Amino acid sequence: MENIACDYCGSRESETQWIAPDRLTNTGEFFSVVKCSNCGLAFVNPRPEIGEINQYYQSDYWAYVRLTRIRWWLKKIILYRELKILKKILPPSAKILEVGTGSGEDMAFLRDRGKFTVQGLDISHNAVSTGRREFGLNIEQGELESKNYPESFFDLVRLKFIISHVHQPKRFLIEVNRILKPGGHILMWVPNFSSWSQKIFRDFWLGGEPPRHLYDFSEITLTNYLKATNFKILKLRHSIAPNVFVHCFRYWLAAHGVPKLFVIFFSINIFSLIVFMPFSLLASLFRASDRLFIIAQKIK
Ligand SMILES: [Zn+2]
Repeated sequence: MENIACDYCGSRESETQWIAPDRLTNTGEFFSVVKCSNCGLAFVNPRPEIGEINQYYQSDYWAYVRLTRIRWWLKKIILYRELKILKKILPPSAKILEVGTGSGEDMAFLRDRGKFTVQGLDISHNAVSTGRREFGLNIEQGELESKNYPESFFDLVRLKFIISHVHQPKRFLIEVNRILKPGGHILMWVPNFSSWSQKIFRDFWLGGEPPRHLYDFSEITLTNYLKATNFKILKLRHSIAPNVFVHCFRYWLAAHGVPKLFVIFFSINIFSLIVFMPFSLLASLFRASDRLFIIAQKIK
């Protein structure tokens, strides 16, 4: 474990926001999420060092598992929307790097439907072998900073729920900038620390997920990072995500001794999603939803 200063501004002054257990592994460990007193960045501190973090990712971590048929069908609707955006901003046969490929489904979709040249990177051996085996994808194992990709090489770097997982986001984004062509783009999805559900549920907030999520960004702190690493934000959308409310509520019920049968009702299903949809819609309208979607462009 290591004790760190703020990655964005270097300050060591911070305030504890909440303490939460690792809900996915059986380590029984608790982690503090602190907020930098100077710039407002939230992060896990103390935290596992880079050589220790793999033990917190089980082989069945959700991002590594193939989706069920019905979830994949729903996801394809979102991917077709993304494809429409990509076709507007990218040249034909553009080179895309996906960092954090997970199960590889998105990457295969962009290759097959978008006709882009895609390559990927993931720290998980499981993710890499799944993507290669199931889809014949070009995926490497490892971290971006150690790969030394050529300068000005990619048209787009896709970062789907990745930036919260890296140990040094500033160094990471500087490297992303270096490997992008002039005017190249990034697509990012990030849990929003300034969301209503974080403010309501605190340590039960799904977006926290310590210690795998080492950083918790808000619209402000993420904007600061992108400006500091020479990106211009073209679009920043607060997406509707009722599933986050459902998970948070389920965690809260389970921790407060509510009968299991009632807790199970609030697993992800059509009824629980309908119950929380109005909250999620309102949160999105008031720019306090759980999910930020960002398109940014390299400016130098
Ligand atoms: Zn700071």
